[in-house]
Formats: sequence, C-alpha cells, structure tokens
Amino acid sequence: MKENKESDIFKCLNCEDVDMVKVTCGPDLMVEQCNDCGGLWLDAGELFNIIELGKFYINHLDTSLKKDSQKNRIRKCPKCEVILQPKHPKTAPEIIIDKCPDCKGIWLDRGELIKLSKTTL
Ligand SMILES: [Zn+2]
Ligand SMILES: [Zn+2]
Repeated sequence: MKENKESDIFKCLNCEDVDMVKVTCGPDLMVEQCNDCGGLWLDAGELFNIIELGKFYINHLDTSLKKDSQKNRIRKCPKCEVILQPKHPKTAPEIIIDKCPDCKGIWLDRGELIKLSKTTL
C-alpha cells in the first residue's frame, strides 16, 4: 500500500529504499531524517537555524541509528536532481557536507551535525 505523495517525501540518499521522515526540531522547524542511517536533509538556512536553537535539538536529531551510513560517492539533490557538491565547511574542515548548488540544501551524515555545531557554537 503506497500513497502517491511523491512531492515532499523522498528516499534517503544513503539507503536504497528508505523514505525520509519529517522530524520536528524546535519551533517552526522541520527537517527530513532517515531512521535507518540517521542521515539528515536540511533545506537552505535550516542548518543555521538548528545551530541557533542549540544543543538540545542537535542531540535530538543525532540519536537514532540502526546501521552505519556509508558514503555513496555521488549523491543527487532529492529536489532538483542536481549532483551535490562536497564542501568542507570553514568551521569544520575535517568533515565533508554535500551541498546542492541549486537550492542550497544540505545533506549531512549522522554525526556531522554535532561536529558542525561544536565548532560553530
Ligand atoms: Zn538512510
Ligand atoms: Zn537542490
């Protein structure tokens, strides 16, 4: 039984066939998360908002994990189908985030949000 609501639900960029779920993370902020690998999709500006909201929300997002995420070499933006560009954030050059050049959305693997916030807070 599958509903056709393709518009705002998309598959995890790591896992073959896992739907992303919307997670409330603070006032007026919803992000998409994969319950299997803990990957996160953030629309433009959401990363900044989450870091502003602080540690509580970041820990909340970075908990669930059923398996390790593996790095696929090529990831496409779930919204624009453009290939994401790996970026080393200035504040945390040891990690790589995948950013869409079109909509500026960001893919984060589990654990990357915490690393980003530690260096930014
Ligand atoms: Zn996943
Ligand atoms: Zn995009």
